[in-house]
Amino acid sequence: MIIDPLIFQAKFPEACRPEQCRSRCCRFGVWTDAGEMKVILSNRELFLPYVRPEAIDPSTWFGDTEADRDCPSGIAVETRVVGDACAFFHPGHGCALQKGAIEAGLHEWQFKPRFCVMFPLVLSGGTLTVDEEMKSLWCMKEKNRTHPIVESVRKEVQFLFGNEMAKTLARSPQAR
Ligand code: SF4
Repeated sequence: MIIDPLIFQAKFPEACRPEQCRSRCCRFGVWTDAGEMKVILSNRELFLPYVRPEAIDPSTWFGDTEADRDCPSGIAVETRVVGDACAFFHPGHGCALQKGAIEAGLHEWQFKPRFCVMFPLVLSGGTLTVDEEMKSLWCMKEKNRTHPIVESVRKEVQFLFGNEMAKTLARSPQAR
C-alpha cells in the first residue's frame, strides 16, 4: 500500500461529532467488500433490532457489485440507500452494524465496512489517501479541520492496518 503524502498535511476535527453532522456521510451508503457482506448477512439477527422499519428485510441491504482492487476479495458491493440513507443507518443510534456489535458485546467495528471505519481516509488504486469529495460534510469544512488527520484517525488505522502502520503514520514523512 502506498501512502499519499497528503495524509501528513491534511487536517480533520479532533474526532467525529455525529451531533454536528447528523451522520450525513451515511446518507449515500458505501461500497463494502463482498466478504464483509457475507459476514453481515450471516449475522443478520444481531442487526435486525437496530435497522429502521423500512430496512427490516435483509434483501434490501445490498445492491450492485463491481470489481475493485482495493477490496480484499476484489469485489465491492454497495450498501443500498433505503429511504433517504444507507440501509444500516438509524437516526436514533447511527449505524446498526456498530450498534448490533456493541449490544452483542463485540468490538464496535467488528461488522462495519472498512471504508466506513477509515473515512476520511480512503484506499484508491492501492494508495491510502484523503477522501476530499464530500466537502459539504461538517468534518470536511475548512474551519472545522483543526487537527492532523493522522492523530484523529489513529485508533481506526490501528484497527484496520495494525500497529506498524499506525506508527508509520505517526512519524513525519521525513522521519520514515
Ligand atoms: S454501513 Fe453504517 S457507517 Fe457505513 S454508511 Fe451505512 S450506516 Fe453509515
